[in-house]
Amino acid sequence: MLIVPEREIADLMTREAAFDAVEKVFAAMASGDAYNFPVVREAIGHEDALYGFKGGFDRAGLTLGLKAGGYWPNNLDKRGIINHQSTVFLFDPDTGMVKAMVGGNLLTALRTAAASSVSIRHLARKDARVIGMIGAGHQARFQLRAALEQRDFEKVIGWNFHPEMLPNLQEVAEAAGLPFEAVELDGMREADVIVSITSSFDAILGADQVSPGTHVACMGTDTKGKKEVDPQLLVRADVFTDEVAQSVSIGEAQHAVGRGLISEADVAQLGAVINGSHAGRSSDDQITLFDGTGVGLQDLAVAAAVVDLAVERGIAIEVDF
Ligand code: NAD
Repeated sequence: MLIVPEREIADLMTREAAFDAVEKVFAAMASGDAYNFPVVREAIGHEDALYGFKGGFDRAGLTLGLKAGGYWPNNLDKRGIINHQSTVFLFDPDTGMVKAMVGGNLLTALRTAAASSVSIRHLARKDARVIGMIGAGHQARFQLRAALEQRDFEKVIGWNFHPEMLPNLQEVAEAAGLPFEAVELDGMREADVIVSITSSFDAILGADQVSPGTHVACMGTDTKGKKEVDPQLLVRADVFTDEVAQSVSIGEAQHAVGRGLISEADVAQLGAVINGSHAGRSSDDQITLFDGTGVGLQDLAVAAAVVDLAVERGIAIEVDF
């Protein structure tokens, strides 16, 4: 068995490798070559922790495995370690033997940022120049850094429920040589691309605060009850997702579908656009919305990529098992 420890991931994994891995696995999901297993997520009644498993099998990439982990809210205050903790296990699909154990913390941020980036690459207008961020936490930094690589953006605008966190976005924008401006939500009408990544349970962005032709990537809603945008925005938009079953149950579309504003059939897989079986953006005036719920196959895809890189560089630790 190969081990790639968390401490090695930052030097091994690149945004490009994460993008390629996620784009490929989205395509495999849409063509029926890859599927996710039902998600397990439990409040374990210890340390207020949420723990669970996300797994799947990609027949095209021959990647089988799971990500185990969750959220320990007391970690930072009590132990000085981050609250999100996860580890990916990969198995040999021919034998069932364990192949690799990979640190999953940084990979989670990279694969989540890669997902919105893939949506921007395939759905945003080519002439997008202003990117709007809603959310300024840990993931938001990764989201912005990756998104900036997808178009020739000239300006970053941002809004956050906790305005004191906005310097997180400003730092990333300025490191990329772009000006940053904090705006009210009405100011989001200036954006050609909007990425939301918050832990909100109430709609933040109104349906009329988005201009025609904008691409919106909703990345924060990954649990029942969470919500980042007015469900009416999904009525205005062409809606795409990583996985339809998750989108309508735990993603942003849960609310619009639950209220009968749109149906499950109105939600398309982003992978179908990548495959060319869905045309994607229909006009320069159409709003497109990507509901990024986060699937296990994304984790397995980036973990498999990082194992290959670790083997190539002689960094993977090999143990008899
Ligand atoms: P974080 O704690 O670092 O940041 C939380 C963000 O949400 C901040 O911008 C904060 O201001 C905002 N926020 C908190 N309470 C709010 C409220 N009541 N209303 C509006 N905004 C509020 O968290 P993070 O690690 O950046 O994660 C952000 C979200 O992304 C989480 O909900 C997490 O579950 C989700 N996430 C999704 C995926 C995916 O694949 N889709 C992957 C990882 C994380």
